[in-house]
Amino acid sequence: MELTCPNCHSDLEPSSGMAHCSGCQRDFTVSARCPECHQPLEVLKACGAVDYFCQHGHGLISKKRVAFSLT
Ligand SMILES: [Zn+2]
Ligand SMILES: [Zn+2]
Repeated sequence: MELTCPNCHSDLEPSSGMAHCSGCQRDFTVSARCPECHQPLEVLKACGAVDYFCQHGHGLISKKRVAFSLT
């Protein structure tokens, strides 16, 4: 899943619900959505790791499968 800055189209690195653009020094809010039902995922934080959980029957979603979108 690739996210790009809507202003300068650089690649963004989503982390902890935010993505920082080093090109234009802006922070964007990122929402994690289920790749199956596109509902927002619950974010579970444990020991520095982040898990994503779909409350609509799809269970734990690995970070690679999460559909991030800018809000
Ligand atoms: Zn940018
Ligand atoms: Zn789901």
